[in-house]
Amino acid sequence: MRYIEPHGHMVSRVTDDYVKMATAGCAAVCEPAFWAGFDRSSADGFYDYFCQLTEHEPKRAAKFGLKHFCWLCINPKESEDTKLAEDVINIIPQFIDRPGVLGIGEIGLNKNSKNEIKVLEWHVDLAARHNQLILVHTPHLEDKLKGTRLIMDVLKNDRRIKPERCIIDHVEEHTVKLVLDTGMWAGMTLYPETKCTPARAIDILETYGNERIWMNSACDWGVSDPLAVPKTALEMKRRGHLASAIDRVVNQNPRRFLGQCPKFKLPAA
Ligand SMILES: [Zn+2]
Repeated sequence: MRYIEPHGHMVSRVTDDYVKMATAGCAAVCEPAFWAGFDRSSADGFYDYFCQLTEHEPKRAAKFGLKHFCWLCINPKESEDTKLAEDVINIIPQFIDRPGVLGIGEIGLNKNSKNEIKVLEWHVDLAARHNQLILVHTPHLEDKLKGTRLIMDVLKNDRRIKPERCIIDHVEEHTVKLVLDTGMWAGMTLYPETKCTPARAIDILETYGNERIWMNSACDWGVSDPLAVPKTALEMKRRGHLASAIDRVVNQNPRRFLGQCPKFKLPAA
């Protein structure tokens, strides 16, 4: 098996995880900027985090034969403080042209507040000005549908944004069609306890097809499984999916979407 992990928070993981992922056939891991599990106290904390994402983590991944890419932003969980968000957004341009940076993400909404929407609009403007791909985090549980609609509106209202250059992550049964109908891409997050289980993700694929959709583990500092993608690929095989259909979801689709950024280069597969 060969696959891409399009969403993993590797700064939170140990080296054993890299070994397991490489052994399972992972060719590259992409790391969106994320909440650290606690609020950072200043923009300087983000400066150091962006250095970690663009300098240190690619070197650590390379030791295990994995290519590492990243996305930059201030996470919606920290967007309530708009002064901090403005300061962080202002330092992103100095990192944006670094070799492994794929775009702006994971931006989006957490509690669907006014300040979060304002900061989301700033990020979308930043992406448009620098011609960047966009990766979006959608809120959880009962706020997901409303939050997904609000995010779609912000993206659609900015005429500079091309839908095929945006991926909306953490979709579930009630939001996936809404996303795909706009021409954007959809990501399914495979979590052991919340979000999508492998069985639910495969049900979604069987219902909505595999044209513009990928799967990720979103492994981070919480309960999560860095091998969720290859394990779900095995479950697809057990349910009778063809090898070519599995390869499309776990390998070719991430390459197609991410390949829109010229910096995403991997050996052919
Ligand atoms: Zn994430």
